[in-house]
This record gives sequence, C-alpha cells and structure tokens, in this order.
Amino acid sequence: MCFRPPTVNKPIKCPSCGTLNPSNLKLCKKCQEALETEEKKESKDAEK
Ligand SMILES: [Zn+2]
Repeated sequence: MCFRPPTVNKPIKCPSCGTLNPSNLKLCKKCQEALETEEKKESKDAEK
C-alpha cells in the first residue's frame, strides 16, 4: 500500500489576508485574491 503525501491537499494560505483556503480553490474565499497553488518562492518574497 502506498499513501499519498499530504502536500496534495495542503491548504493554501492567502498571500493577501492569510486565510487558509482549500487547495482546490483558485481564489481566496475571503478576499478573492488569486492563490498561488504552486510553491514557488523565488522572486516574490517581499512581504515580511
Ligand atoms: Zn484572502
């Protein structure tokens, strides 16, 4: 038996308001901000 890694259904944190959204959503359920489904933290890391 093989189990899937939890990363598949990992909630996506809204970059704008910080709300955790289900990974199947494309927009934040709260503020409608576009969610980044793929983890690519390379160029954009200017919010800290
Ligand atoms: Zn949001």
